[in-house]
Amino acid sequence: MPSPINFPRFYGTRYDAVAVIFKVYTDQGIVGLGEADPLNPFTEETPASVMVVTRDVIAPNLLNQNALDMAGLEYRLDRAVNGNLTARGAVNMALFDIAGKANNIPAHLMLGGRVCDNLTIFRGIESGTAQEDAIAIEQEMEKGFHRIMIKMGASNISDEIKCMISAMDRFGDRIRFIVDANQGWDVTEALTFVERTKDYSPELIEQPIHRRNIEGLKRIKDRCCCCLLSADESLVTIDDATALIQKQAVDVFSLKVSKNGGLKKTKEIAVVAEAFGIKCLMNSMLEFGITQAASLQVGCTLTNLVDFGYAYGSVRRMSDDVTDFGQNISGG
Ligand SMILES: [Mg+2]
Repeated sequence: MPSPINFPRFYGTRYDAVAVIFKVYTDQGIVGLGEADPLNPFTEETPASVMVVTRDVIAPNLLNQNALDMAGLEYRLDRAVNGNLTARGAVNMALFDIAGKANNIPAHLMLGGRVCDNLTIFRGIESGTAQEDAIAIEQEMEKGFHRIMIKMGASNISDEIKCMISAMDRFGDRIRFIVDANQGWDVTEALTFVERTKDYSPELIEQPIHRRNIEGLKRIKDRCCCCLLSADESLVTIDDATALIQKQAVDVFSLKVSKNGGLKKTKEIAVVAEAFGIKCLMNSMLEFGITQAASLQVGCTLTNLVDFGYAYGSVRRMSDDVTDFGQNISGG
């Protein structure tokens, strides 16, 4: 039995993640790879729904088309498929892979080119007791990681506040912390956390409350004097991005190439974000190396990233990644 990941109360304990790996074949002999990372109820999709919509709707719209006409194919799929963004994202990854192999260039050159050569990784830990958190943090520090995401929203808010204060008190001079509650708090709990950790605040709080409570996010953001607020589950489509911008509900968008429908749509959200002063955090689902590589290709092109770390360590928590993406990780 592999080690489980204890997510906050909204998702429970996970022992595995099921990715759907796409191979898109061209008549020129090029094979493009993509990956869908559905995680119900984070995403509306499941592995089975990804496969059915691909077989019944997506594949017929790709057959006999020019694989290098990426905008044209995206347009065809935008008209043919409602939602299903992790399936769409896997196709888009595969099309980038095909175009890159056909032209012998990396994907980031098709997205405008890169502005950095490496990105700092944050590691996630599950909040337990303050002592358990300290042990987990020290283990990550020994591996060279100095950016930590603490998963909260699992136990009562008073205990989580104590854990935050304890972690900052003990490691705040060496570690940069972010907190992800994965929708696990209500507004009152989130406001209590913000208020009582003012002097021991993480740098960012992600998705404290339910994804549809945009007004609640705005209330929390207005009280965050010492940290940034980000949207993850609330940010899937470009329409979500514009609604969050119009409501001025968050400071940061948490981007995930699978969740957001591929490299092209993720980059579009990032560009819109930049126009309105929103920063981006390259985050991940429970991803294997194909999505992680696609995400890295997008992330290295962005000039509006937060500066405290990104989720490129996902493959480290998988026992059977099908790629060698993990070899890109060196220290933190
Ligand atoms: Mg998150």
